Amino acid sequence: MQQGIMELMWRSSHVSGGNAHYVEALYEQYLEDPDAVPDEWRNYFDQLPRPEGSASHDVPLAPIRDQFYQLGRARRTAQAGTAADSGENKKQVKVLQLINAYRFRGHQKADIDPLGLRSPTPVPDLDLSFHQLSKADLDTEFQTGSFFMGLDKAPLKEIVEALEQTYCRSIGCEIMHIVDTEEKRWLQQRFESVRSAPRFSDEVRKHVLERLTAAEGLESYLASKYPGTKRFGLEGGEAFIPMMDELIQRAGGYGTKEVVIGMAHRGRLNLLVNILGKNPSELIDEFDGKKVIERGSGDVKYHQGFSSNVMTPGGEVHLALSFNPSHLEIVSPVVEGSVRARQDRRDDPEGTKVLPINVHGDAAFAGQGVVMETFQMSQTRAYKTGGTLHIVINNQVGFTTSNPLDARSTEYCTDIAKMVQAPIFHVNGDDADAVLHATQVALDYRQQFKRDVVIDLVCYRRRGHNEADEPSGTQPMMYSKIKQHPSSRTLYAQRLVEQGVVSEDGVKAMVETYRDDLVAGNHVANALVQEPNTSLFVDWKPYLGHEWTGDADTTFDMKRLQQLAARMCEIPDGVEVQRQVAKIYDDRRRMQAGGLALNWGFAETLAYATLLDQGHPVRITGQDVGRGTFSHRHAVVHNQKDGSAYVPLQHMADGQPCFTIHDSFLSEEAVLAFEYGYATTMPNALIVWEAQFGDFFNGAQVVVDQFISSGETKWGRLCGLTMLLPHGYEGQGPEHSSARLERFLQLCAEHNMQVCVPTTPAQIFHLLRRQVIRPLRKPLVVMSPKSLLRHKEATSTLEELAYGRFQMVLPDQGKLEAGKVERIVLCAGKVYYDLANWREEFARDDVALLRLEQLYPFPKEELFEAIKAYTNVTDVVWCQEEPLNQGAWYSSQHHMRAVVDMLRDGLGRELKFAGRPASAAPAAGYMSVHTEQQRQLVEDAFNA
Ligand code: AMP
Repeated sequence: MQQGIMELMWRSSHVSGGNAHYVEALYEQYLEDPDAVPDEWRNYFDQLPRPEGSASHDVPLAPIRDQFYQLGRARRTAQAGTAADSGENKKQVKVLQLINAYRFRGHQKADIDPLGLRSPTPVPDLDLSFHQLSKADLDTEFQTGSFFMGLDKAPLKEIVEALEQTYCRSIGCEIMHIVDTEEKRWLQQRFESVRSAPRFSDEVRKHVLERLTAAEGLESYLASKYPGTKRFGLEGGEAFIPMMDELIQRAGGYGTKEVVIGMAHRGRLNLLVNILGKNPSELIDEFDGKKVIERGSGDVKYHQGFSSNVMTPGGEVHLALSFNPSHLEIVSPVVEGSVRARQDRRDDPEGTKVLPINVHGDAAFAGQGVVMETFQMSQTRAYKTGGTLHIVINNQVGFTTSNPLDARSTEYCTDIAKMVQAPIFHVNGDDADAVLHATQVALDYRQQFKRDVVIDLVCYRRRGHNEADEPSGTQPMMYSKIKQHPSSRTLYAQRLVEQGVVSEDGVKAMVETYRDDLVAGNHVANALVQEPNTSLFVDWKPYLGHEWTGDADTTFDMKRLQQLAARMCEIPDGVEVQRQVAKIYDDRRRMQAGGLALNWGFAETLAYATLLDQGHPVRITGQDVGRGTFSHRHAVVHNQKDGSAYVPLQHMADGQPCFTIHDSFLSEEAVLAFEYGYATTMPNALIVWEAQFGDFFNGAQVVVDQFISSGETKWGRLCGLTMLLPHGYEGQGPEHSSARLERFLQLCAEHNMQVCVPTTPAQIFHLLRRQVIRPLRKPLVVMSPKSLLRHKEATSTLEELAYGRFQMVLPDQGKLEAGKVERIVLCAGKVYYDLANWREEFARDDVALLRLEQLYPFPKEELFEAIKAYTNVTDVVWCQEEPLNQGAWYSSQHHMRAVVDMLRDGLGRELKFAGRPASAAPAAGYMSVHTEQQRQLVEDAFNA
C-alpha cells in the first residue's frame, strides 16, 4: 500500500536518523494546521496510511507512521478531554448537532454551480434557530467536538464560519452516507482541517493556470481553424485538464505504473493532446480528413483511443485511453476489465499499481443501467480493481438538450454512487484551487481505502451538444448566462493576478507560448516521455498481422495428458466432496484410466489443464460457472465440512499460470464488457465468459455490437474472448432454447469473429485449445450444448484429444457407400444426434449426415472435401432446429449453396430447408408442441 511514496520518505535524507525530530515537529504542526507546512510536506502527510490493516510490505515504515499517528491521537484526545470537561451547557449539544448538520447537508448550500443556476435547496438544518440557537449565542465559546477546526473551543460565530467555509463554498461534500467510521473521519479531517481550501504554493497554482491555458488554448485554436466542425469541445469544463494532470502525477508518486482511462466524447480531444500527448499535427490531419487507416473501417476522431508514457515524481507511467463507442458509459466496465488484467499481470491484488479513471457525462451517469452494474462489481472478488476514480463532467445539460428535471429523479446525477458508499465531491469547475483539492483527496482516498470515489465537476457547456448545434433554441436562459460568463481560465488568471502570483504579462505569455507550440506542431503534454519504456505494457507483436486460419496444432503429448487428467481429479484428504460431485470426479478418474468414454466436462476441463501446462493463464466467469449451469463442470469443489472451496486446476503444478474461475454477479452487460476489456489486454490467456443460458447474452447486446464484433475493424484492437452460450431445442420454452445464433451470424464479416457449434468432447477440447495456441486473436462464439453434456453418444477418446484437431466440418460417421448416397443433410449442433438416431432406426444408408462445427468463417474447402465423394447426390438439405427466420439459414445458405455449386456436374441441385416454421418466438412453450415440431423437422430432413 502506497509503497512508492512511503519508500521515498523513508529513503530521503530528511526523514532518516537525526531529522526524524524535525519531521515529527512538522507533523505536529500539520495536525494543528495543515496549511502551516509546505505543500510537499502536506502532500506526504495527507497520504500517510492508517496504521490499522497495513499491508505487510510496508512494515518497515510502520514505526515512523505509527509514531506520527500516536502523536496526532494524543493531541486530539487531550483536546477532546478539555472540551468534555467544559460542560453542562445544553446548548453545547445543539452546537454539536449544528456541526453534524453541516456535514450532512452543507453540500446543498454549497456554491458549486459556476453559472449560479442551481436553485438553492432550503436547508433549515443549517439555521441557528433550527437548533434552538440564536445570534445572541454567537460570541459564546463552545467545544468543537470532533470538528477538525484546530481548536478545542471557539466562539459559535467562528465555528459557523469554519463550517460555512468547509462545507458551503466551492466543494459540496457528500460523505455522511459512509458507514465506516474510520473512512468518514479520514475524509472529514481532509476537508475540515483546511476548510476545504488549502493554500497551494505559487508554483503549483501557476502550473494549474498553465494547464487551464492549454485546455482553453486547444479549443480556441480548433474553433478558429475548423468552425462548426464537430469536436465535442471541453469549453466550460476546462478544469478537467488540470484535474487529470494532477491525478496522473500524484498517482505516479504513489508508485502507480499504469493508468487506464475511459471517457465519452466531451473533452476527449483535449485530453488526447494535452494529457496523453497525441501530436497536435496528427489531430489536425484527422480534422483535415487526411488520415486513413490501412485496414478496417476506422472510427471518428472522438472515439479514438491512445497510449503513451508520461513522467511523474514516481517514475514513468503508462497511460491508456480506451477506445469508446457512442454508447456512453459502456466503456466503464471495459476499462475495469483492462485494469484488472494489468493488475493480474503485475501480481497486484491490492490494485496499487494500476489506476482506473472513468469519466462520465452527467445525464449518462444518472441514466444508464450499466453504471449501477459497474459500481456493483467494484468490490467483488472477480471484478474489483482497488477502487475507481470517477469524474463526472457535469455540464448540466443531458446529452443534446435535456433538462435535469427530465434527466433524473435523484437530487444529484451522482446519487447512484452512494449504493457502494462512494464519497462524492461536487466541485465548482470555475474554482481551480477547489478542483485541485477535491482531486487530491479523491486519489488519496482511493489509494488508502481501495474503494470507488466520485468527483462531480460542475461546469457548463459553452457551445451546443456539438459545435454545429445551436443551444439557445432549447436552453435560452442558460445560454444567455453562458454568453456573459468569463472562462474558467480567465477567472483563475484574474485571481492569480490579484493575489500577485502571476503578472498580466505572464498570463499573456502562457497563452501565446501554448498557441505557438500548437501552430508549430509541437507536443503540448509537458510530461510526455518521447522514448517510452515499452516494458510497461504488453507486447502485441506476436499476435499482429495474421490472416485467418482455422488450423492449429492442438495435439498434446499423450503421457502428459494422462498425468494432467489424473492430477485434475485429485482432491486432498481434508476436502469432503458432496455425493453427486464425488460421482463426477469418480467418473473422470475412470475416463482417465480408460474405463469410460470421455464426456464433455472431462474434455473441457482437460483443455484448461493443458493450456495451463503450456503456460497460458485461464480465466472463466459467468453465472454459475464454477459448477456450470447444467452441473457438468464442477471446477470448484465445495468442502462439505466447512464450505471452503477447492479448485483442482489451481493445483496442477508449482509455478503454474493462474487459473481463475468466478461465479459472476447477476449481470450480463457489465460482466461481458469487463471480460472484453480483460481479453483485449491479456493476449496470452484463455478468457471465457459463459452465459447461464445462451439467450441471456442479449442483456449485453451492446457489447457484442459495439466491441466484440467490430472492435478490430474500427480500432485495430484484437480480442480473443470466448463466449460459451448454451443453445439447443430441448422443450424448455422460448427463453431457454436459443442463444440467437442468427444475431451473431448477421454480424459476421471480414473474419471478425468465429461462430462454432461443437458436438463432441474432442471438438470442444481442440476448439478451446485452438483459441490460444494459434497466435490469431479473434472472438469465439460457441453455441455450447445442454443435453449433449451427458449424451451417451456424445463421447470421445483420449486418443482423439491427444492426436486430433478441431474439425470445422465433421464428415459422416457412418459406414456409407459414397456412390449410394442420394441425399446430404447438413446440420449443426445437437440436432445431429436426433438425425443420426432416425437414420439408424430407419436404416437410411442413402443419406449422409454432415456437421458444420464452424459456421463462420464458413469452412468452404472443408465442406467441399466432405461432400465431393457423394457424386450421385440429388438433394442437399440444411436441417436446423431453429425456426426458418432464425438459426443459420438466412445468414449461411449462400455459403452452403456456393459449395454445392462447386460439384459442377450439371445436376442443378437445390439447397432445401428443414426446420421449424417461421416464428416470432424462438421456441414453443409446450413440450408436446416442441416434440411434434422436432419430429417433423427430422422427418423433413429425410423427406420421410
Ligand atoms: P495499452 O497498454 O492498452 O496502451 O497498449 C499498448 C500498445 O499495445 C498499444 O499502443 C497497441 O499498440 C498495443 N495493443 C494493446 N491492446 C491491443 C489489442 N487488443 N490489439 C492489438 N494491439 C494492442
